[in-house]
This record gives sequence, structure tokens and C-alpha cells, in this order.
Amino acid sequence: MTRVLVINSGSSSLKLQILDTAVEKELAWALVERIGDPVGSLTVRRSEWTGSSAQSRSAEAEFADHTAALGLVLELAAELRVHPTDLGVEAIGHRVVHGGPAFHEPVLVTPEVEADIEELELLAPLHNPANLRGIRVARELLPGLPHVAVFDTGFFHTLPAAAHTYAIDAETAQRWHLRRYGFHGTSHEFVSRRTADVLGRPYDELNQIVLHLGNGASASAIEAGRAVDTSMGLTPLEGLVMGTRPGDLDPGLIIHLIRDRGMAPEDVSTLLNRRSGLEGLAGARDFRELLAGVDDDDEAATLAYDVVIHRLRRYIGGYWAVLGRVDAITFTAGVGENVARLRADALATLGDWGVQIDPEANENGSGERLISTPDSRVKVLVVPTDEELAIARACDVVLGLGPAD
Ligand code: ADP
Repeated sequence: MTRVLVINSGSSSLKLQILDTAVEKELAWALVERIGDPVGSLTVRRSEWTGSSAQSRSAEAEFADHTAALGLVLELAAELRVHPTDLGVEAIGHRVVHGGPAFHEPVLVTPEVEADIEELELLAPLHNPANLRGIRVARELLPGLPHVAVFDTGFFHTLPAAAHTYAIDAETAQRWHLRRYGFHGTSHEFVSRRTADVLGRPYDELNQIVLHLGNGASASAIEAGRAVDTSMGLTPLEGLVMGTRPGDLDPGLIIHLIRDRGMAPEDVSTLLNRRSGLEGLAGARDFRELLAGVDDDDEAATLAYDVVIHRLRRYIGGYWAVLGRVDAITFTAGVGENVARLRADALATLGDWGVQIDPEANENGSGERLISTPDSRVKVLVVPTDEELAIARACDVVLGLGPAD
């Protein structure tokens, strides 16, 4: 039995989960938001899988930094008897967004690994510093336990050069490690492996397209168990339309804004990371809000929805051509798991390609399931992602605590 604390540290948030990988259950969970603001919020919850009743503690206070936030989480966890020591946690797994050219697999965190992750901050200035802060704070407050870093880019290290190479001056690209890395890899791997399990087929015989559609969104093409293309690139800005990011656009637009329109690079970064996508088009970053607008015939919301669907179709068609044969298409994450209408619209033109959605299964089921008709040559599935479980399992493997799957 292995118990792992998984930490996802953002710039102003901390998400923690203690999982038992043997039974795949969550024992405890905590969320801190608005770290650094005058009033932040914190919740720690004990689940019934601890053997005691479910219970939670919340606090609204100023959390000056991640150390203060994690300190209070551990204090409240101790009150609920779900402190990592109480639950016999054996390892701590950290989500790290960018593994750069060096990290392909999850690794045990050492001072050298910390330094290498720090060096990658230039490639991922919006994510890696926050991830590293989480690692440092957790190592300080929970010494004596092994810490493992699991990289969002890892699964995509197998991309062929043709897929990961940007067609720019080769020397410049090489000098600054400019290439497509891909993100959400932990989710794409978890979901594609589950897809094979659900279909009862060997993972390395299936060609798959996985659509991870949450606030961030990405698509991947997986050929016989190996990732061969993905929509996110050097950074998580490229590809599909997202909650606040545009996905693909002409790089000339960025040059135009900076050189010809006098926009500061920092403002362009804010535009592309926070004021684009659904937010930029319809003022609604949350998909539920967007759908409410579509139902009300709101023009901006309808256009945003149409752009989302158009982009999805382009990626699905493109990956189909890359793969040659597609066995399964799987939807995951908040939007992919919950929005039947988007799944149907994204695949609506593929009837001649052997994709038939079963409207009943698509609209009424829940959880992991097949949503294509029995006759559909290509299987279509919904598979809820579980990045925390995948990170916990990766810790098992790195530390030799449990079986590799
Ligand atoms: P992330 O992990 O990237 O923050 P999630 O995978 O949690 O994102 O997905 C968040 C998105 O999923 C939001 O746009 C949210 O509106 C959408 N979403 C979640 N549940 C539903 C639902 N039942 N119906 C429609 N959209 C939903």
C-alpha cells in the first residue's frame, strides 16, 4: 500500500491531495487560493476513505506566502488526523509544468534537479517558478520524505522531429531550445491508457486522438502507444482555443502589436494569457457561462463557440492524416467530460470517416464510457482524467514502491 501526497502549486494557489495508490482512493484534500492577497481562502477535507467520517476545516485569512499557506494546511490536517505523518504518506509528488529538453521521466528531487528546474523558468515563466516554490516549501516543511517531480511535458518527449520542430532558423532554435514540448502530458497518457483498458485492447496497438478540454485545452495524436503530435508548443499558448488563451495565431500579429501598435511585450503576454480565448471573444472564460450565452443567442458567445468547434475539427482532421488510421477518440477534462453538445459538434462532419456518436450515450451517461454506436468503426469515449492519481503512480514507480503499469 502506497500513500502519496500530490502537490500542484500555482502562483497564488496550492492544491494538495493524499492518495492511496493501492485502492486508488483520495484520503484527504486541500485547496488554498489567493495566496498573497489580503484575504485568501483555505479548505482541508478528510475523506471517508480514511476510515473516519468525512470532515473539513476552512479558513479565510491572509496567507503571506506559500510557506504560510502550507503551514496552516498541515496544522488543520493534523487536527483532522490527516497530516501526512498520520496517514503514513511515503512520498510527495509535485506537478511541474515544463521539463524542458532535459526531463523526460519523473525524477527524485535533489538540489541539482531543483537547480535544473529553476533554469527552465525562462521557458515557462508563468508556471515553473510557482511549481518550484511548491517543491521548496514542501521540502522545508516535510523533510525526510522523498519528493518526486512529474513533468507535464514528459509524455511528449517521443514526438518525432517533424512534429516538434518549428520551421525557423535552426541555429536560433537550437541555441534557445525552441521547439514544441507539449503540455498536459500526464493527462494525455493517463486517459489514453484508460481508453485502451476500457476497449480491452493493448495500448501499443491503438491509434488514438485525445482531446483534453478544460480551462487549458490540448489535443494529442498517439500512434501505437507513442505520442506523435500535440497541439501545445514551446508554451501552453499554442493550439486549441482555451478559456483565456487564443491557441494558434499568426506570429505576425504579435510583431504587429509590438512594433506597429506600440504595445509593450508584457501587455501582449497579458492579452494572450488572460484576455483571449473564450474570455476575449465572449467575456466568459467559464464554458458553462459561454453555453448560457449560446442558448440566449448571444452573438459573441455563439461566435466563440463556433471558433472552438472549428479549431477542434481542424486538429482532429490533421491528426487523422498524421496517424493514417484512428481507432479511438477520447474526450476528457471539465469541458470534454461534461459538454455533450461540444462532443457531438466536434465530430459531426466525420460520419463518412466511420465516426458515429450514440446521442443517448453521449447526452445521458456519466463517468468513463463509450459514446459511439456499436457500428461506429472509430470508438468515441469520455474518460475523466485524474492527473493526481497519475502523479501518485509515477511516484510509486520512481521510488520502486509499487508496480509499473
Ligand atoms: P483546469 O483543470 O484546466 O482548470 P477543468 O478541467 O477543471 O480545467 O475544466 C474547467 C472548464 O470545464 C470550465 O470552463 C468549466 O466551465 C467547464 N465545466 C466543468 N463542468 C462543466 C459542466 N458540467 N458543463 C459545462 N462546462 C463545465
